[in-house]
Amino acid sequence: MTNCVIPLADEQATIHLGERLAKACQGATVIYLYGDLGAGKTTFSRGFLQALGHKGNVKSPTYTLVEPYELGDMMVYHFDLYRLADPEELEFMGIRDYFTRDAICLVEWPQQGKGVLPEPDLELHLSWQGEGREAVVTPVSDAGTALIARLAN
Ligand code: ADP
Ligand code: MG
Repeated sequence: MTNCVIPLADEQATIHLGERLAKACQGATVIYLYGDLGAGKTTFSRGFLQALGHKGNVKSPTYTLVEPYELGDMMVYHFDLYRLADPEELEFMGIRDYFTRDAICLVEWPQQGKGVLPEPDLELHLSWQGEGREAVVTPVSDAGTALIARLAN
């Protein structure tokens, strides 16, 4: 499978990538968002959610772990697992109920949920590139590969 390396010169570019990925999603999709604090995971998520019709701000659900958005006929769940102490906590919050056939899941700090979190379709790695950022998008399922193919067109 092919990685996609995308330079993100400024915040707007990160938002735009979120918008493009949102529009390329067809049905249930799980996207893991990797990158240090301030790398742009929430900025990406804001572009993604707004492209699907969300109006207003998007904050990382650092304390609640997940924020639900009902957008058209899809549910989008935005996770931030930074403060998750133990992946087992995800079992207690009924994690499997979120990863359904009509849901898109965006997960910040997925490494915190290792072993319990369902597998992703796409991984996005955000890192610093000078003043800007760089995204490396990796498809890890057939659905993810198809999504990236649509993104390229
Ligand atoms: P994270 O959720 O990964 O902790 P945030 O999205 O909350 O990060 O914050 C990222 C910060 O970096 C914001 O201040 C945003 O304006 C800025 N930012 C986002 N994308 C870029 C970019 N491509 N270049 C420069 N700054 C960016
Ligand atoms: Mg964040």
